[in-house]
Amino acid sequence: MDREDSDIRDDFPVLDRRVNGSQLTYLDNAATTQTPKQVYGVYEDFYSQYNANIHRGIHDLSHEASVAYEKAHDKAAAFLGASGGRTEMVFTKNTTESINLVAYGLGLKELGPDDVIVTTEMEHHATLVTWQQIAEKTGADIRYIEVTDDGHLDMDHADQIIDEQTAIVVVAHVSNVLGTINPITELAALAHDNDAYILADGAQSAPTRPVDVESLDVDFFTFSGHKMAGPTGIGGLYGKKHLLEEMDPFLYGGEMIDHVSLQNATWNDLPWKFEAGTPPIAEGIALGEAIDYLEDIGMDTVRRHENELAQYALDALETREYIETYGPSSGTERTGLVSFNVDGIHGHDVSSLLNAQGIAVRAGDHCTQPLHDTLDIPGSVRASFYVYNTTAEIDTLLDTLDGLRDTLPDYLASDRYHDSIA
Ligand code: PMP
Repeated sequence: MDREDSDIRDDFPVLDRRVNGSQLTYLDNAATTQTPKQVYGVYEDFYSQYNANIHRGIHDLSHEASVAYEKAHDKAAAFLGASGGRTEMVFTKNTTESINLVAYGLGLKELGPDDVIVTTEMEHHATLVTWQQIAEKTGADIRYIEVTDDGHLDMDHADQIIDEQTAIVVVAHVSNVLGTINPITELAALAHDNDAYILADGAQSAPTRPVDVESLDVDFFTFSGHKMAGPTGIGGLYGKKHLLEEMDPFLYGGEMIDHVSLQNATWNDLPWKFEAGTPPIAEGIALGEAIDYLEDIGMDTVRRHENELAQYALDALETREYIETYGPSSGTERTGLVSFNVDGIHGHDVSSLLNAQGIAVRAGDHCTQPLHDTLDIPGSVRASFYVYNTTAEIDTLLDTLDGLRDTLPDYLASDRYHDSIA
């Protein structure tokens, strides 16, 4: 990292916490990253100095809040390389809401029984369930790009199933289980050659690597603030301006209108047409601060750090015969997350035993049940890294796993274990 690791860690006081008597080792960043002082400091500043509703009051506080909230849209647009600025950047609650916005605002309006939605076997439920609903409501079909044994999308299969019937391709930029970085530019070309749209789910990519939506040539790109050093309750949708203009609003009410009569209404300019009601103002401003924070470190630096930690963890995990890892074996082909299983022990047990030593990881299906079916496993344990994590923390994880392997047979036979699962 360009900034000293210790310097970065000082921005995250939560990392000094002790959990169950041990120093916290926070390795659950693909679920939610920690928030630096600079970002949560926005709340104190906002609520002590200029808390007001936006776009409504002709008074200083409202003006200051409006300007800060609008500026955050410009920052998010610039962060993702969207040259249209705020007109191409809608703030939502999270990635899930952004995907739903496109599904309902565009999918429901444009798709019909002759259309096909193409997505992949490695998608998050936020994509799978949402587009399954659109298929059910419109009569459209869904096809899934298969995943290869080494955790990549099968691009020959993609080539076969993306055809002139395809209306939209919805694909994760980075898999939240395999860490795989998917070839979005290639998929965008396939989609556009067939006059289809493409939505990239950037929940795991925006936090971890530089993203340029225009060189990726995606029509839509979604992300969540809480996975990129920002707060919960705020996320975003990039959309090409002409598409956002054509789409129907997703939610209706105040703020998203231009003129209302008793018969009908017309819509506000972009992006406000998609932001009905009072938005999460402080959260939006704090998201802008999180973007400043990441840009100060540099997204190339973030990517390099992620790759290094992924490679370090993979190399070490793969030497352990009692562990099976999933996804690409090279750290540069993935972001900083590694999913694995410990031979003979359910992931939930691994996770709760790690927690007993202060190590936070995630276990389960990570909202990707179909991918786990494809891998033929009930679930997995996921360790995921961010800007403040160190190789020493990965060593702590590995040492603790080794300790579990040595003591676990006794533990699994003990009354304590049977009581805990009863
Ligand atoms: N897509 C991917 C790839 C994810 O990792 C996640 C979060 N786990 C989501 C979508 C949903 O994000 P959120 O819960 O913030 O809406």
